Amino acid sequence: MTEWGLFVVLFVALFIGWMLGRRGTKESQQEELKKVPNDYFRGLNHLLNGQQSEAIDAFVDSLEVNADTFDIHLTLGNLFRKKGEIQKAINIHQSLLARPDISPRDTRLVQLELASDFMSAGLLDRAERLLLNIASRKTEFQKEIFTLLVDLYEFEQSWDKAIRIGHQLQSDFPTRKQAQRLAHFYCELAEEAIKKEQFTVAFQKYKSAIDVDVDCVRASIGLSNIYLSQKRYRDAIKELKSVANQDHEFLPIVIPMLRDSYIKVWGSGGYLKFLQEQLKMHPSATLIRALTEHYAQDDKEFAEQFIITQLRAHPTIKGFQELIDMQRTESDGHDQENLSVLYELIEQLTSSKPKHRCRQCGFSGHQLHWQCPSCKSWGTVKPIHGLEGE
Ligand SMILES: [Zn+2]
Repeated sequence: MTEWGLFVVLFVALFIGWMLGRRGTKESQQEELKKVPNDYFRGLNHLLNGQQSEAIDAFVDSLEVNADTFDIHLTLGNLFRKKGEIQKAINIHQSLLARPDISPRDTRLVQLELASDFMSAGLLDRAERLLLNIASRKTEFQKEIFTLLVDLYEFEQSWDKAIRIGHQLQSDFPTRKQAQRLAHFYCELAEEAIKKEQFTVAFQKYKSAIDVDVDCVRASIGLSNIYLSQKRYRDAIKELKSVANQDHEFLPIVIPMLRDSYIKVWGSGGYLKFLQEQLKMHPSATLIRALTEHYAQDDKEFAEQFIITQLRAHPTIKGFQELIDMQRTESDGHDQENLSVLYELIEQLTSSKPKHRCRQCGFSGHQLHWQCPSCKSWGTVKPIHGLEGE
């Protein structure tokens, strides 16, 4: 239902509720109708004129807080918060809490809403105090309380606290998404440790991330970087190859690291086999480029035929650019100049295009963000595939 539709339904609900609360004889109903609050008609007028905010204000003024109108007030408070009118939401929720006959369950329910209001207003200390107060004993709203606390600590970047509460939430109400989120919290701590050059701490945090979510690509990349810095190339290779099973969409990011690691140890045998296997299952411009580069070391003609065949099956601008690059190095004079101009033009075109896109909300940009700057989801921003991407 649209927000507008919801307003209309609420308005009608109010009137019906108000009338039901004053049931009686026809005569007495006519008498009561005369007592319909002026604010109601004022609100109706605003509603008919499309003035939603004014309509709701009048609506709230006409509605005294009692057991019959409790749910309507609660819904209205939430509507105000969603519209960004936080102070109005706070006023409504506080007026509900001030009711002398409010039950303990309803008190906790309203406190939860009030905590959300405080969070939306940026009053994080007040929200935290309120939530910890409700959480001090087990209630029917445990999941909602923990979820809000994790949101709050995530927003504050208080990763230790977010992890502590996140584990409680995960143990009582486990979800895949929550596990993925927890893993990223550990990765945040690992990256903080790396900035302080505390590599042992970082290593442990990445391991904890893998423990909570075995498919955490970010942790595998982080661990690989630590292995590479310690010249543990075999461990780095093992970790980087695991990304293919965790989420093959991230392969374009790890292939250059994998190539560098393989060069340091066994030569190129395992590397070539891995690339060929992955190409069959998940073709991408980076994979094709890496294989072309590898074949070109021994046989440029074969490499050129390979890339042409691959471009037919999996056309990308990156692949086309690679082909032009190969041909310009083999040509000379005027041909080489022309191919160089073409190469530069493609370079300008591709460099202005985003390289990563959030699978959740569609946000796109050059950088790889582990948390989407737009929808705040974790691990949903990935390399773009298709003609202009991979
Ligand atoms: Zn997003």
